[in-house]
Amino acid sequence: MGDGIDLYDIVIIGGGPGGMTAGLYAGRGQARTLLINKGALGGMVLMTTRYDNFPSYPGGIECFELAQRFEEHMREFGVLVEMDNVETLRYYKDGPLFEVVGDEATYVCKAVIVATGSNPKLLDAPGTRKLFGRGVSICAVCDGAFYRGKDVAVVGGGDSAVEEGVYLTRFANSVKIIHRRNELRANPQAAEEAFKNSKVHIVWDSVVEEILGETKVEGVNIRNVKTGEITKLDVSGIFMYIGATGNTEFIEMPVEKNTEGYIKTNLQAETNIPGLFAVGDVRDEPFKQAIIACGHGASAALMAEKYIKTISKEALDGFSQVKR
Ligand code: NAP
Repeated sequence: MGDGIDLYDIVIIGGGPGGMTAGLYAGRGQARTLLINKGALGGMVLMTTRYDNFPSYPGGIECFELAQRFEEHMREFGVLVEMDNVETLRYYKDGPLFEVVGDEATYVCKAVIVATGSNPKLLDAPGTRKLFGRGVSICAVCDGAFYRGKDVAVVGGGDSAVEEGVYLTRFANSVKIIHRRNELRANPQAAEEAFKNSKVHIVWDSVVEEILGETKVEGVNIRNVKTGEITKLDVSGIFMYIGATGNTEFIEMPVEKNTEGYIKTNLQAETNIPGLFAVGDVRDEPFKQAIIACGHGASAALMAEKYIKTISKEALDGFSQVKR
């Protein structure tokens, strides 16, 4: 039945903290494990600068170093890594095995751990898409240095907006955080840092009406939601941190999700589909934290190891087991 196709025990899609912790556990448990990721391993860890609340690193750790340590530790346990863009996840034939279709290859496995995180949302305001990459950004770490000595805006009032807004003051002359309410959602420590930073100015009760400019951002029109007044902010960059949606469009299976595309699981990382697990930011959970993703990853790998032992011998007939 398997036609000599290579068969993995576990395929992990996504190489952030959740995916790499799942890999570490699965590899250490002797499962033939493949982790597929689009680019450099690290996930959201690479989209920020420094962690000061990751346990066991008193004094904090640079994000790049943390990502490297995750990868090095996982690779110690023989996990294979492929750089590929997964287009489709579905059953192989009628199941119970899974088929993960990437741009480069197709992978067949007994269990899948989805660790694909989330996609940042963009505003609908006119100018957003036209000027994306020309002053409109979703990544302060990637683009912040282009704004040395300039004035920029950040949209949102959550942890990302406030922390990345403060980060941008390393380069920018001023950072205006545009928030639609009169109270931040961000954690108090981040809020405090923003309040005491003289380069940060919070523009309360305001939404973006339009991003101005033809080939690059030349300003932003905002509307005060209480007074209706429109004001032009003279900024040359605008960073959007208004939340995200689960990165799950590639799953061609009836996995249960919420309205934002985040996958529903139980506490053991199981989804409604046997053999399909989900970890980290792609899950329908309120706290998107690296350390929480790690816990999910450990649970998912342990549960996946149990699950693959339940697959019938007939389903595995004719496959070639991938060597560790
Ligand atoms: P978030 O918590 O969902 O916050 C999104 C922010 O954008 C909110 O302030 C929201 O306003 C605002 N917003 C949403 N849609 C908007 C729209 N259409 N126009 C204007 N404003 C809009 O997203 P996040 O900050 O990216 O955080 C996501 C998750 O990651 C959270 O669980 C967060 O705690 C976590 N995170 C943690 C850390 C950390 O622990 N250091 C760092 C980054 C992220 P309202 O407040 O009015 O809803």
